[in-house]
Amino acid sequence: MRVRFAPSPTGHLHIGGARTALFNYLLARKHKGTFILRIEDTDEDRSTAESTKSIFESMLWLGLNWDEGAMPDGMEKGSCGPYVQSVREAQGIYRKYADQLLREGKAFLCYCSPEELDESRKKALVEKRDPLYDGRCRSLTEDQRKAFEAQGRKPVARFLMSKEGSVGWTDLVHKEMKFENKVLSDFVMLKASGYPTYNFACVVDDHLMEITHVVRGDDHISNTPLQLHLYAALGWKAPELGHLSMILGPDGTRLSKRHGAASVGEYRRQGYLPETMKNYLALLGWSNPESQQLFKKGELEEKFDLKGCQKSPAIFDPVKLDWMNGEYIRLLPKEDFLALALPFVKESGLDISAGRVPLIDIVALEQEKCKLLAELPAKVEFFFKDPVYSPEAVAKTLKNPEVPQVIKGIKEVYSALPEFKEAPIEAATRAFAKSGGLKAGQVFHPVRVALSGRSDGPTLFRMIEYLGKEESLKRLDKALTLI
Ligand code: GLU
Repeated sequence: MRVRFAPSPTGHLHIGGARTALFNYLLARKHKGTFILRIEDTDEDRSTAESTKSIFESMLWLGLNWDEGAMPDGMEKGSCGPYVQSVREAQGIYRKYADQLLREGKAFLCYCSPEELDESRKKALVEKRDPLYDGRCRSLTEDQRKAFEAQGRKPVARFLMSKEGSVGWTDLVHKEMKFENKVLSDFVMLKASGYPTYNFACVVDDHLMEITHVVRGDDHISNTPLQLHLYAALGWKAPELGHLSMILGPDGTRLSKRHGAASVGEYRRQGYLPETMKNYLALLGWSNPESQQLFKKGELEEKFDLKGCQKSPAIFDPVKLDWMNGEYIRLLPKEDFLALALPFVKESGLDISAGRVPLIDIVALEQEKCKLLAELPAKVEFFFKDPVYSPEAVAKTLKNPEVPQVIKGIKEVYSALPEFKEAPIEAATRAFAKSGGLKAGQVFHPVRVALSGRSDGPTLFRMIEYLGKEESLKRLDKALTLI
């Protein structure tokens, strides 16, 4: 099995592209095949080197290592290269096959200007016809061609599409697919610049790179009949073809920027782990018979199959993504969690030198509940500087009538504690509540808000131990002034 991911470097790697890359990678691993990365930079205006670099980075971050293709250091791996289409174009690879089709009368040169094409399209729409190319250059005479060239017109090469019959394939995901040829256009193979179009370059390269299975997003279904015509015209066997279901946002419309972060790099910056993204993306349009949700390292590579790919759209659910990230964060050894958290803490500008307790212990306190690394600095900040009192927490908890007495009382209890450690702090706090006839929550909640400024946070008595006696007493006093 030889599969490929063939991104167009016109932007960052997005969720849809990453899912396509992952499924191809998993297929290759499962079947001990080869995963190839080909850069499809035939859009001369929109392709950039930065996009290629960013796609490489995102793929490596996700752990989608490829066996052949363009490499980040500018070199290539594999014997079917070059793997960058602009480089292949410069070597005349596409022109060679376009010339062959022109010679064989399976393609023709078209001299129509963009304006002329536009006009004919509009006319077709007014006449309620499909706005297909009207075929006006299909049978130009030698003289007509020369006349156009004398006008300085540069031709494109178009495929001569049959108007009869149909084309079909058994899709690996969607099963039987069929298109009538009369709805297909004499599509452009080579542009006036000599650059190939996506459809043409894709077929030439998939063939020359010996791709056995093409797995891509279902936005390419309409390209597939054109590509199958090219395979037939060139006398090549087409690969197996599978089109992955569309990804929708939670509101049921196609996933886009509107639904939040869209690129893999943005998810990375927000503190999602690569393991989370890989696991989450795998479930966008695929499931195993057990509907397993979490996969151990290496498990997807064993369990993935095309049979589990569904054709109905997949829904991108950010709540599930956050849940899954929390699951993966909890699995981390605390040293690894610290290492991942550190850049986020540094970036936030938080001065951690004032802390009494090492950062690793403080972040470990938060690890249990953390869903996103980017949230961490705000969560641990109160250990290192005066708390910022949340107005809601103050209004909801500190304004209760018994609170001033509770705070004053607990302050006395804490200042008398010989050992300021989690267990004695807890015992003393509970005893204080009991002796005053208060429910535990009537003491715990105000103490938490008084010390951290927030009504949620890490396990309370460990938190108090880490703040230390002196700081805790100071904050209890401060809280009294807020009431
Ligand atoms: N360059 C195309 C894209 O990014 C590749 C489509 C394909 O896999 O054939 O959508």
